[in-house]
Amino acid sequence: MPGFELFGDAERKEVNDVLDNGVLMRYGFDGMRNGHWKSKELEAQLQQTFKTNYAQLVSSGTAAVTIALASAGVGAGDEVIMPTFTFVASFEAIMALGAIPILVDIDATLTLDPIAVEKAITPKTKAVMVVQMCGSMGNMDALQRICNAHNVFLIEDACQAIGGTYNNKPLGSIGDLGCFSFDFVKTITCGEGGAVITNNEMYYLNADHYSDHGHDHIGNDRGAETHPFLGYNYRISELHAAVGLAQIKRLPEFLSIQKKNYTILRDSLATISDITFRTVPEGGEESYAFLNFFLPTLEIAQNVSKSFKENGIDGCFHYYDNNWHYIRKWDHLKDLKSLFPMSAEIKVGLEYLKTKEFTQSDHYIGRNISCLIKLSWTETEVKSRASKMVDIVKGIL
Ligand SMILES: *Cc1c(COP(=O)(O)O)cnc(C)c1O
Repeated sequence: MPGFELFGDAERKEVNDVLDNGVLMRYGFDGMRNGHWKSKELEAQLQQTFKTNYAQLVSSGTAAVTIALASAGVGAGDEVIMPTFTFVASFEAIMALGAIPILVDIDATLTLDPIAVEKAITPKTKAVMVVQMCGSMGNMDALQRICNAHNVFLIEDACQAIGGTYNNKPLGSIGDLGCFSFDFVKTITCGEGGAVITNNEMYYLNADHYSDHGHDHIGNDRGAETHPFLGYNYRISELHAAVGLAQIKRLPEFLSIQKKNYTILRDSLATISDITFRTVPEGGEESYAFLNFFLPTLEIAQNVSKSFKENGIDGCFHYYDNNWHYIRKWDHLKDLKSLFPMSAEIKVGLEYLKTKEFTQSDHYIGRNISCLIKLSWTETEVKSRASKMVDIVKGIL
């Protein structure tokens, strides 16, 4: 998935175009910019690529998740259901708005188990946030049905699944609002950046205003703009948007390399009968950013992960023992280590985390190995990596 692998002349040309023109900010300076609107151009490309009516570029994926929630009206005291396996940004964004993250178990899709979601719904639930982890997706039909039945928002964090689809719809475009990250390790990069996409005009306008101090962006005189509501600064710069504009044009090329490399690794590992692969819901197609597989036990997975590292197979993660992506190591969340006093509502709302066990999540994440698919490998390198991986796993089984 790494955007850090493939960039060069096309990206340089777009960035130099911004520097030569001299307007680094995305809003205003209409007279000075001589028709240069990199952010707007990239937003148009995002709408086309992800088949939605609206796209709002922002400063990061974390900002995108925060803005998507805010645009749907999530705020103090609301509960947002999210998976135990994700990136720390999920609960950071929820709590930044004063809302309470309700973590629930994942299933073999490696994201929300619809049954666990349904059980977690209370009168305070305002949104369900599905995180399309490692290039694939949750059971979107089931999740949508639950959200509709309980009248709650479905927010899609597709930061790690750029280019994946479900029933031919791009991931990110299925929920009420979808989020992308263009940080340095995602499929396409701006350096730092993110986007919110939606088909709903009101949510889009909320995202547009909220990400720039509540400015309404009407007319071309910044000073005369009004503020329909409070906001914050989550703007992207023209320099970052310029990098993304070059990158998004290369997305089909990146995805096809990913798929090719993924398929070589998967076909080799599939020859081992004790290996199973993560469930991709019917109608879904992965982005092939990662290859995820399950081993029979936690202990075997730990040994395989260790042996991969010792034998130079880099980029494979055993998330069970990882600080960033799984509930087990999030002590700062469980102990509510905050720089500043948190509201009583959040403190009380998070008490369940001190005692709650996520045995079903442990069952999947404990046995899962997730391998990053790189774009820069040669075919010889992928094949030799595949046969090394097979030898290592067979040696341990
Ligand atoms: C990367 C990522 C984010 C945050 O994106 P940033 O641009 O790094 O802020 C959020 N959610 C998921 C699933 C991610 O992988």
